[in-house]
Amino acid sequence: MVSARPAVAAMPAYRPGRNPADLAREIGVPRAVKLASNEVAFPPLPAVVEAITATAGETNRYPDNGAALLTTALAERYGVDAAQVVTGCGAVMLCQQLAQAFTEPGTGLAFAWRSFEIYPLLGQVAGAPVRQVPLVPSTPSGAADTHDLDALAAAIDDTTRLVFVCNPNNPTGTAVRRTELVRFLDAVPAETLVVLDEAYREFVTDPDVPDGVELMRGRPNVAVLRTFSKAWGLAGLRVGYLLAEDPAVADAVRRTHVPFSVSMLAQAAAVAALASEAEVRERCDAVVAERSRLTTALRERGLTVADSQANFVWLPLGERTAEVAAALEARAVITRPFAGEGIRVTVGTPEEDDVFLGALDAVLTSGAAETTGA
Ligand SMILES: *Cc1c(COP(=O)(O)O)cnc(C)c1O
Repeated sequence: MVSARPAVAAMPAYRPGRNPADLAREIGVPRAVKLASNEVAFPPLPAVVEAITATAGETNRYPDNGAALLTTALAERYGVDAAQVVTGCGAVMLCQQLAQAFTEPGTGLAFAWRSFEIYPLLGQVAGAPVRQVPLVPSTPSGAADTHDLDALAAAIDDTTRLVFVCNPNNPTGTAVRRTELVRFLDAVPAETLVVLDEAYREFVTDPDVPDGVELMRGRPNVAVLRTFSKAWGLAGLRVGYLLAEDPAVADAVRRTHVPFSVSMLAQAAAVAALASEAEVRERCDAVVAERSRLTTALRERGLTVADSQANFVWLPLGERTAEVAAALEARAVITRPFAGEGIRVTVGTPEEDDVFLGALDAVLTSGAAETTGA
């Protein structure tokens, strides 16, 4: 019998969020609301659909492995050299490529926890130990929901090759500010690559939250990770990118690229999306307005909600998390629970969010803890 590497056998199976159509059928309602994966609720922009349609007839050919048009468009958009840009099959695959390119047994990774679920798995596959630095409260009486950058800096030693700072942090939505991030970057040794994971950058409204692309200038050990999956609305096409100050970092990541893994449709759609930035901006503004309405509505219900700089909010429900999430699901609302910690709720359309708030009211007043659904 064949057997997988022990490190791989020990990995948890990925559990995607429930499919809304399945859930709706199961509980006998016309429609379930999915607020679990931080997608935007808007369909792709017309120009994007047009680009995909126009490209469909060419898909008997392999895509451009170097994604030249998209790379050039990104370089122009961010004022960097094309040699500093790497595209990937989602930012998630770029995370894997970073781990492959920079870690090996005997070296390590560090990041805050709780943060993006992929990070611990990277170390597990690479055989590189991970250091997880606990989040701390962002408000005096609040839950642990924000980076402790001083502790993260202290956790780095001469074996640490890679550090992820997810800003804003998934799943808590909090963001670290310029002063603390600059102090952190100044403290990190030159041999450690810091990856600023800015998957939600487009939703940031706090002027004190720095743009990683500006922050990386003059710092060869800093790179920025972004994606077309969230604000740009292309989650189904799988395309993300890394911007590195040092072209050698970009080159190393490029060497681990799975050939042709950014599809022709994804490349065309991303180029079209970049050319429609004004419309994307408007959509982000709508998400931000709805984020603020949702946050206020939750606080009016007496719930603790940290200020989110992303397109989701975090409810630190602690021990009640799994039960509340299950009870919401029984009322046709799919959220993303992290058992024992809290629920991440994607900002949906005002209609979707009202369905969520209604379900939450029902759950909280009926004492979700006793009436576990589904
Ligand atoms: C969603 C997300 C990504 C990127 O996802 P892809 O769809 O693979 O581009 C990266 N980092 C964080 C923190 C995310 O939440």
